[in-house]
Amino acid sequence: MDNMPKMQNYTPEELVKMQEEALKKAQETWNKLTPEEQAKATVEAQRMLEEETRKHQELMDTVKRFTEERKERDAAQNAQKPKFCSNCGAPVSGGKFCGNCGNALS
Ligand SMILES: [Zn+2]
Repeated sequence: MDNMPKMQNYTPEELVKMQEEALKKAQETWNKLTPEEQAKATVEAQRMLEEETRKHQELMDTVKRFTEERKERDAAQNAQKPKFCSNCGAPVSGGKFCGNCGNALS
């Protein structure tokens, strides 16, 4: 991904885990505040939470896109794999019968 240089070193699973850990850490920090501090921080926290939610959604969208791209790539590679006759092992390029031995191909 040329447009995602920071993400290319991580798997989708790792990115999700990183995000979960970041959210957990934010929650723990929040729990350490006094009620007064929490009240003061509420507006800011809500703004940050909305930002986190937006980022999380973007991350999930990215992960979903990567996963779909990987699926498509795997499917394309599978489609390009040469097939071989199950009877004689000769490579076959489509068609219903082996060009070498005439075996019916599945
Ligand atoms: Zn054959």
